[in-house]
Amino acid sequence: MSLFAPKERLFSSREIQKRVGELARNLSRDYRGRELVLIGVLNGAFIFLADLVKRMTITVQIDFVRLSSYGSGSESQGRIKIIKPTEFPLNGKSVLIVEDIIDTGLTLDFLCRFLKEQNPESIRICALVDKPERRKLPVSIDYVGFVVPSGFIVGYGLDFNEQFRQLPAIYRLTDL
Ligand code: 5GP
Repeated sequence: MSLFAPKERLFSSREIQKRVGELARNLSRDYRGRELVLIGVLNGAFIFLADLVKRMTITVQIDFVRLSSYGSGSESQGRIKIIKPTEFPLNGKSVLIVEDIIDTGLTLDFLCRFLKEQNPESIRICALVDKPERRKLPVSIDYVGFVVPSGFIVGYGLDFNEQFRQLPAIYRLTDL
């Protein structure tokens, strides 16, 4: 059993679903008539991406990448590797990276550089949560669900040591 337990509920399931619906509407409007590939970043973005695409009203393709980032703790390792690359050709496509949370920005910076090598028409970013106070690299996020100033959060796909992903709401686990 974990020594940690979620402390404070930040966003209820209802609030999350409402916000995801708004993002899906904006994306459907902005990408109408374009060849859009959503690239979900595993594992954390799987619930967000699933809910998002169910609410979108345009045709999309879906692919996933998996990167090594935090390992089993809550601090960034700073060294990132691709564990599972994309599987579709991205040449000329509109790419939307779907991330669970942007913290230091190191993972996203690395992923954008990796995807650019495949010559997509554009790369934009949609993140469920932005934690801008801990940013180490400047990254511009085009679609943001929620902004949280600090703390380690779990739920709705976000884990700590692979726990808490299944929670339908988002909680603060620690203040760090
Ligand atoms: P970054 O490279 O921006 O520092 O970190 C991105 C990745 O770190 C996220 O995709 C996520 O896996 C993990 N991460 C960063 N902050 C949090 C957090 O508050 N909670 C959880 N569960 N993961 C986080």
